Amino acid sequence: MTHHAHHDEHDDPHATIDTPGATHDPVCGHWVVPEKAHGRTTYQGVTIHFCSTMCERAFAKTPERFFARYQAR
Ligand SMILES: [Zn+2]
Repeated sequence: MTHHAHHDEHDDPHATIDTPGATHDPVCGHWVVPEKAHGRTTYQGVTIHFCSTMCERAFAKTPERFFARYQAR
């Protein structure tokens, strides 16, 4: 594995609904691999993973709104 390939793999948290262990980012609607998530938080005892720090910050502003969307999945 080249250094570049390794970097790409590490840097891309995106998954699909079929990826084993993938979790839903409630802010942007993407599926993410928890080990590669760029942000995470715990809300009402549930750990939520984000594809980017931007999504994490958006969640922090209005967690109740996004959490409802997360649970709807
Ligand atoms: Zn996101």
